Amino acid sequence: MTLFDRLNAQRPWMEEERLVLDQVMRTAEDVIAPAAVGYDKSGDYPETSMAALNKLGMNAIFVPEAYGGALMSYRLYLECVSIISAACASTGIIYATNFHGMKPLIDLGTEEQKTRLLPRISGGGLGSLAITEPSAGSDATGMKTRFTPDGDEIIIDGSKAFISNGDRAELILLFGKWSEIEDPRQAISVLILERGSPGFEVGPKEEKMGHRAATTVPLFFNGCRVPRANLLGEPGGGLKILLSSLNKSRPSVAAHALGIARAAFADMIAYMNEREQSGREIIDFQGNQFLIADLASELAMVETWIDYVAALIAAGETDYGEEASIAKMRASDLAMRMTTEAVQMHGGYGYITDYRVERLMRDAKITQIWEGTNQVHRQLIGRSFRAK
Ligand SMILES: Cc1cc2nc3c(=O)[nH]c(=O)nc-3n(C[C@H](O)[C@H](O)[C@H](O)COP(=O)(O)OP(=O)(O)OC[C@H]3O[C@@H](n4cnc5c(N)ncnc54)[C@H](O)[C@@H]3O)c2cc1C
Repeated sequence: MTLFDRLNAQRPWMEEERLVLDQVMRTAEDVIAPAAVGYDKSGDYPETSMAALNKLGMNAIFVPEAYGGALMSYRLYLECVSIISAACASTGIIYATNFHGMKPLIDLGTEEQKTRLLPRISGGGLGSLAITEPSAGSDATGMKTRFTPDGDEIIIDGSKAFISNGDRAELILLFGKWSEIEDPRQAISVLILERGSPGFEVGPKEEKMGHRAATTVPLFFNGCRVPRANLLGEPGGGLKILLSSLNKSRPSVAAHALGIARAAFADMIAYMNEREQSGREIIDFQGNQFLIADLASELAMVETWIDYVAALIAAGETDYGEEASIAKMRASDLAMRMTTEAVQMHGGYGYITDYRVERLMRDAKITQIWEGTNQVHRQLIGRSFRAK
């Protein structure tokens, strides 16, 4: 039994959670992982992988029963994200983005909004989260997209950049500024944009280093009209919603990065036990053992920390911003380091596309950039210790 077998055996799951995990694991192994290579090469949307997840009703696990879901624990959701992402990081982020976009609607939407909109997601539709703009990235408060009230409607003008699932989403959680509020931070507001709204256009998909099967697109709004009934909270209530929704999506992107790191670790260890040089398996060289020790320790710590953050949230804690930042930052730094070392341990073969570690390394890089770059997270964590 390895350290990770023991760690896994210690993690408590209820019977019904165990059943879900077994199903997800089987689908990841039988359907998602084998298809990942082809989707990475073609850049096509991973239809078969997403269909397999929808067959399991995976969106339903984060939506309450009243809106067509079958709500399970956040910790279970996070573990599912890791398992799916280890098999195919693109599929993992498409799935997780549904949660990132729709969780604020679940937590803060009115009964009418949830009853009307959420069944589309619990039934397998995609969700999306649109914050970033061409000139507002790390500082999201610099966004320029404008929401102008007009009777029973809101008119949207502006654009968004780099939006995951933006081309296929049924519902997009869209941030912009309320035209009638002058203070730029106080003006931030949020609404649910439905697919096919007039005046809404999707730009061409970005060609990316990794996550090639997960689409990333710019969005354009030219006098786009949505019902005022789709406004989430009050005009100007968006900044609070933005910060609280990021706190829930950051452990989720951490779980996604953890999946990539786990996959790289597994491939690296298997290769090191097999590959011989100078008459010995390369795992027998002490320098390499030191490397494994460092990476395995970090992997164990990150897994445990993500479980810890999930437990905080389950316990009803609301002030966990730094904890979520630590999860996001450490998991993504680990994914990058782990995949880089895994390529290194494969020698020249690691650089060849026949080996999964090559793809994992390309997929890992963005995890240090999205959902707040790791510089921003270091700043958030560091400044939380200022005395005044
Ligand atoms: C594949 C992909 C998918 C994405 N999906 C989504 C999505 O679904 N929804 C969405 O809204 N956005 C999405 N994004 C956008 C992503 O969140 C941003 O790219 C990210 O927040 C960084 O913003 P930026 O690219 O404008 O970089 P910038 O903010 O311009 O940063 C440039 C550099 O400056 C550094 N920097 C900036 N501010 C500071 C600071 N205060 N201290 C120290 N360093 C700093 C950054 O760390 C970075 O290294 C996606 C991006 C990509 C590439």
